[in-house]
Amino acid sequence: HIAIEPDTRWFELAEPDLPPVAEGAHKYSRGLVHALAGSMPGAIALSATAAARSGAGYVRISTSAPIPGLPLSVVQVGDAQLGDPRIGCLLVGPGLGKLPQLLTLALTSRAPKVIDADAIGLVGEPDRLRGQDAILTPHGGEFAQLFGDHPGSKAEQALAAAAVSGSVVVYKGPDTLVASPDGRLGFAPPAPAWLATAGTGDVLAGIIAALRARGMPAFDAACAGVWLHGRAAERAGPAMIADDLLEHL
Ligand code: AMP
Ligand code: MG
Repeated sequence: HIAIEPDTRWFELAEPDLPPVAEGAHKYSRGLVHALAGSMPGAIALSATAAARSGAGYVRISTSAPIPGLPLSVVQVGDAQLGDPRIGCLLVGPGLGKLPQLLTLALTSRAPKVIDADAIGLVGEPDRLRGQDAILTPHGGEFAQLFGDHPGSKAEQALAAAAVSGSVVVYKGPDTLVASPDGRLGFAPPAPAWLATAGTGDVLAGIIAALRARGMPAFDAACAGVWLHGRAAERAGPAMIADDLLEHL
């Protein structure tokens, strides 16, 4: 049972139309994802690889320490490249740890953003996200940290969070919802419960960042990412670990 405003435009997520790869494409035109690494290199490696597997032509990670396990197509760089106007989506959160200075750094960028994991709690005030062109991907705990614990259905809460932050909100869980500040609401079709394992959220954030960098509008990129993530999990099967999703994308 869902109680939402009568003018809400809600629908179930369906197989997305992804932007085609132009014949004359080069790696930058296909979409540049720039990720900020933090204290947990495994999570950023998973997220960045998911972005590369989701069609970003180029994935870069800002970090001062070497990250093991990266494919050769994912490149490590310093923070200096954050101002690069070619960045199609900045990814901050997976593997970040509690490093508020990295979130602050991310918010100085003019690029569209995917904000996930610990970075969500570090935002502090939803108002800080206005004008950031951000997609937030909280699970229940991260959602409550930023938006508080309000009465009402999950759908109402997601829509209110999108409105107050001016951001697209992917409210994750067994019943993932995608809410837009303009009142659109997407319901994910059922995804396998075996997604409840460490690292699957990092993969989702990487997928969405790639689709955003490929030029999809924020709400469409979020909806498409959630749908693809669920289907990849179906193919990966019940013994899957998050890494397996990469080869099923
Ligand atoms: P995170 O909590 O950041 O690790 O993300 C977990 C991912 O797995 C999200 O995409 C959730 O929507 C998904 N997920 C977690 N538990 C379930 C479940 N029981 N059924 C379906 N999807 C789930
Ligand atoms: Mg997570």
